[in-house]
Amino acid sequence: MPLKAKTRHRRTRMAVTLISGLLPVLLGSFILHMQAERTQEQSSAQTAEDAIRQIELMLDNTAQAAHELLPLAGQSCNDVKLTLREQVTRRPFVRSTNLVWEDIIYCSSLFGDIEEKINPGDYTQGALWLMNGNPVTPNTALLVYRRSEGKKGALATLDGYHLANVLRLIGRKTLLQLQVGKNWLSADGVFHDTALPRLPVAHSYLTSQRYAFSVSAGFPSGETWRYMTSEYPPLFSLLLFFGVIAGFIGHFLQMRSVSPTHEMQRALDAAEFIPYFQPVVDGDSKRWSGAEVLMRWKHPTEGLVRPDLFIPLAEHTGLIVPMTRSLMRQTAALLAPHSASFEKPLHIGINITANHCQDLQLVQDCQEFLDAFTQGSIHLVLELTERELIEPTATTRKLFEQLREMGIKIAIDDFGTGHSSLGYLSQFNVDFLKIDQSFVAMIGIDTPSSHILDSIIELAGKLDLALVAEGVETLEQSDYLSDRGVNFLQGYLFAKPVPGAEFISALSEH
Ligand code: C2E
Ligand code: CA
Ligand code: CA
Repeated sequence: MPLKAKTRHRRTRMAVTLISGLLPVLLGSFILHMQAERTQEQSSAQTAEDAIRQIELMLDNTAQAAHELLPLAGQSCNDVKLTLREQVTRRPFVRSTNLVWEDIIYCSSLFGDIEEKINPGDYTQGALWLMNGNPVTPNTALLVYRRSEGKKGALATLDGYHLANVLRLIGRKTLLQLQVGKNWLSADGVFHDTALPRLPVAHSYLTSQRYAFSVSAGFPSGETWRYMTSEYPPLFSLLLFFGVIAGFIGHFLQMRSVSPTHEMQRALDAAEFIPYFQPVVDGDSKRWSGAEVLMRWKHPTEGLVRPDLFIPLAEHTGLIVPMTRSLMRQTAALLAPHSASFEKPLHIGINITANHCQDLQLVQDCQEFLDAFTQGSIHLVLELTERELIEPTATTRKLFEQLREMGIKIAIDDFGTGHSSLGYLSQFNVDFLKIDQSFVAMIGIDTPSSHILDSIIELAGKLDLALVAEGVETLEQSDYLSDRGVNFLQGYLFAKPVPGAEFISALSEH
């Protein structure tokens, strides 16, 4: 049943709710992740720059020592070794100084006279060499600054300990590495002569403009998420909040979209409510004199739906008015092209609810309907059910007056099941009484209902109202009603409700 669509697809609905809730959270997290990556890239580049500047300052100081000692190269070590030592004590980062003559260290601040060959090729751009310690302190990184001029040379050594401190202190959360030529130093002070590894997150690599060294900076893997969880908790709460709201909205929209009213509105827009036609025959000749238009819902998945399953809700929500209007337009479009060939005026019964009688719009709807047909080719009969009495107001009085002036007939449907008074019948200028099928079904069975049927027939005769009997299924019922002068008969005995095309093709035969 289409209006129970709500209880189906529960899993799909939950999935859609979940997705609408998760989407803002995932999207937001993705954006925050990108933002965090950007922040880390900026921070890593900034840290590398700070490290470059700090190491340059240390090298300035070291280079100054070599610069001052260079003129002394060539002089006897005994004469200059105190000056060499003085530079070591005066300069905060310098650990040792040496004098060189023709690429041979001949005087050292540590040992005085020595003789040790140097290889200028070890020095990047002839000036800087990162080495893994010397005989005095093996496995302690040293950065040697070399200055040379002709045969003269001066070396000043910067302790790796200070460099490692710079890498550690400036870096804090950032990993920093100092590279000189092919060798590099990590923040733990360890010397490496392998290839410089790429740092997993926000890697940046900066080269000094003034000395032959570079610094690489970055973060360990997983640092972006760690950064997000420590820096963005308020934003994450906001995202969760939006997620919950979006989930609710998604859920609400779905509930709305599958609510019965919404489903009927959709069906109306999709023109799924279509007319079926049940012939009404003449009581004497049994020839077709007209038809009652009965609504069917051609549901895309449920198939053809009976009106008692959806009409009550359509009446309750007021959708019945546009639905009836649509039904009348479809009926006119189907039958009007054939109306010129109708031998006698065809009775077309349309079921109208009390809702529809509250303003004069019904007059316009009927006028539009009549205008579609060849003049005089039809009688429009509005069937008003007796169970839904129309309150007599100035508007309804005017409405029924106008309908009468237009030649429209009024039938009271399901007569005998409600409680319309004689006053009611005359108030709305009723033309037909449609005897409810429950009384017809009692023909031949001796019950109080069969007496009611006789009373209705008698009453109609006295009030000069035409009678239509509904639900005629047997020959016995048909004969009984014809014998008592019931003007029109309707029921499965003659024909079931059929689609428009079928009705039109059968119409000419009858
Ligand atoms: P109704 O106006 O009394 O329509 C007659 C109903 O009796 C129809 O049921 C018809 O198919 C059925 N019927 C006809 N002959 C026989 C028969 O020999 N035996 C039996 N057992 N039934 C027979 P249907 O088409 O299912 O419509 C049910 C009700 O839905 C209608 O009762 C009417 O109250 C309402 N309805 C149908 N179409 C519309 C519409 O366009 N507008 C409004 N407001 N109500 C409608
Ligand atoms: Ca009816
Ligand atoms: Ca009826």
